[in-house]
Amino acid sequence: MSVKRPKGTQDFLPAGSPGFSPEFGASNLNFLTATAQQVLERAGAKLIFTPVFEEAELVKRGVGDSTDIVRKEQFTVSHHGDHGGYILRPEGTASLMRAYMENGLKQLPLPLKLWTHGPMFRAERHQKGRYRQFHQLDYEIIGSDAALVDAEAIALMWNVIEALGLKHARIKLGSIGDAADRERYNAYLRERFTPLYDQLSPDSQDRLTRNPMRILDSKAPVDQELIADMNIQPMLDFLGEEAAAHFAEVQRTLHAWGIPFDIDPTIVRGLDYYRRTAWELHHEGVGAKSALGGGGRYDGLAQALGAKDPIPGIGWALGVERLLIAMQDEGLTFPAPPRPALFLAALDADQLAVTAELALGLRHLAQVEFAYRPLKMKQIFSEAERRNAVWVGFLGSDEAASQTVSLKNLDTGEQRVVAQAALADVL
Ligand code: AMP
Repeated sequence: MSVKRPKGTQDFLPAGSPGFSPEFGASNLNFLTATAQQVLERAGAKLIFTPVFEEAELVKRGVGDSTDIVRKEQFTVSHHGDHGGYILRPEGTASLMRAYMENGLKQLPLPLKLWTHGPMFRAERHQKGRYRQFHQLDYEIIGSDAALVDAEAIALMWNVIEALGLKHARIKLGSIGDAADRERYNAYLRERFTPLYDQLSPDSQDRLTRNPMRILDSKAPVDQELIADMNIQPMLDFLGEEAAAHFAEVQRTLHAWGIPFDIDPTIVRGLDYYRRTAWELHHEGVGAKSALGGGGRYDGLAQALGAKDPIPGIGWALGVERLLIAMQDEGLTFPAPPRPALFLAALDADQLAVTAELALGLRHLAQVEFAYRPLKMKQIFSEAERRNAVWVGFLGSDEAASQTVSLKNLDTGEQRVVAQAALADVL
């Protein structure tokens, strides 16, 4: 049997391939990153790339060893059978903060805006919109804890959505307060859940001691049913004065900028280093339970990774495949991949070298293809049509003698004979 791609991964194909789906279109992925690039670089974000594998320790500290991502979904990288302690990155934030710290990026003008894109890896159960290798667009701004920075980060995510033409995405905004607020909330949750310990999933029983807030994030149906019946007070009720003021400022600013959002008091982030602003972006097309993206402030992350002093930061990630699903759901079209301006062919072997030379000489101007062997007239036209070329050009012995090319425009039907030296003018 021939070798197949791993479960939960996708080949991103050229448009027109058999079984092509826009969700896994190579040029669609490129279109998303190019759109994000334009939005983010206009705001001053710098492009950065980090390795796709990292020390397991980075992910453990950066994502949290009580999360499903670390406990169940890690792809371990081994080398010559030697388990190198590396894993495939499941997200980008921890890597970007590591890179910021490791490379002295605080020397650049602060706060520093970074953006990246690339594959992420989580060994999740495969289903639509949930893959083992997926792609994220990632934006982080490091070095400021101002509410204005939070609002801008959210606005930039929204601007990317707008630039893609999506109309039905919704921002759900919340705040998870400061460390002391969360301690109070965790104490409250412990009080509420402890009497129901036996009804919790084994994972959530464990979370009850480690980090009760993560119970609220649980995907286990037993937990979700239990929580639905408990009438639990939301985290927002537990915000201290400073966190509440920060949250109000973020909302005021977003209102002023006309960025639509709904308050979601139930948003939680189970990790200790998260602070204050947290949000998710939802879209009907990808289902109620799956987000298009999410973001949050992580002022404690740098210290979790070993920094002496706190480094404030906030960022977000958008899932590329899910954006493509949402765009299909809204009936948006994707830019067509570029088509050849000209397809050139020779009728006889004698003219083959000239067609190749002409084609190569025109490529600084446009996409030009040529046939690698002589073709019959009918074949030349069918090959040009299959490639969706604008012009088809051919050379037989007459054209070779007069140093011309016979051309036909496949869009308009126009026919011309032009000097080989003048081909560039036609294109
Ligand atoms: P997270 O880092 O979990 O907040 O995820 C950010 C975004 O990445 C999500 O909102 C999804 O759009 C996308 N995402 C996360 N996990 C997957 C996955 N397994 N397959 C596809 N997209 C994913």
